[in-house]
Amino acid sequence: MSTVIDIQNLSYSYGNTLALEDISLTVDEGSFLGLIGPNGSGKTTLLHLMIGLKRPDEGTVTLFGEPAHAFEEGERIGYVSQRATDRGESMPVSVRETVLMGRFPHVGHRRISDEDHVIVDEALERVGITDLEDRAISALSGGQRQRTFIARALASEADLLALDEPTVGVDAESRTEFYDMLDELNQEGITILLIEHDVDILTEHVDKVACLNQRLFHHGDTVSFLESDAIAEAYGPTSRVIAHDHP
Ligand code: ADP
Ligand code: MG
Repeated sequence: MSTVIDIQNLSYSYGNTLALEDISLTVDEGSFLGLIGPNGSGKTTLLHLMIGLKRPDEGTVTLFGEPAHAFEEGERIGYVSQRATDRGESMPVSVRETVLMGRFPHVGHRRISDEDHVIVDEALERVGITDLEDRAISALSGGQRQRTFIARALASEADLLALDEPTVGVDAESRTEFYDMLDELNQEGITILLIEHDVDILTEHVDKVACLNQRLFHHGDTVSFLESDAIAEAYGPTSRVIAHDHP
C-alpha cells in the first residue's frame, strides 16, 4: 500500500502563535482519516499543510511523493474549505457548470468534449445530484452545495478529498446521507481527510483518527482511539470530568 501523505516532525506558527508542534503521521492510499480536536487546536492548519497550501516552519510534508508545497497536480486533490457552503450563496452559476470546472485542468486548450460531459454526468450521479444539474449554486441547501463541490473534485479525477467540517449547517438526515456517500467514495478507493467535531459521527465513518491540540495526542485506528484517553487529554480537564461522569 502506498503512502499518500507523510509528515515528519512538523511545526507551524502564525507569528508568535505556535499552532502545531512536532507532528508526525502518515496517510495510506485508500484510507479515511478523521481529524479531531477542540476549536483552535490546529485542524484546519494541519489540513492546509497536508495538501500544500502552507509550508511547514520545521519538518517535512510529502504529498504523493513530492514536497507538498511544490506539488503541482492540484486536480488530484479535492479540497472543500471550512464554511464553503456559505460562500456559494452568491455564485451565479449552475451545478453542472460548477462540476464542469473540474474538467478545466484536463481540457487545457482543446475544446470541451463529449467525454468531459460524460465524466460530469458520472460525477453528478456518484454524489446523487443529477436532478439538480440546472439549479443555481445559490439556490442549493448546504448539503447539496457540498455534494456539488465534491462532484467537481470527482470530475477533476481527484484521488484525495480534503473536507473541513463539511456538514456544519446541514440537517441531521442530510448529514447521515452525506457521510454514507463519503463511505462509498472511500470504498471506491478515494483517500479522504475529514475534519468533523462530532466524535460519534467521525468514528462511525473513518478508519483512522488523528486527535490533536497543537500536539498529536493520538494517531491510529478508530478502536484504539476510542480506548485511549486522547479526547480527554486533547480537550483538557473539563472533558475529563464529563468522561468520568459517563463511564
Ligand atoms: P481549528 O481548525 O482546529 O479550529 P486552526 O488551525 O484554525 O484551528 O487554528 C489553530 C491556531 O492558529 C489557533 O490558535 C488560531 O487562532 C491560530 N490561527 C489560525 N489561523 C491564523 C491566522 N491566519 N493568523 C493568526 N493565527 C491563526
Ligand atoms: Mg478549523
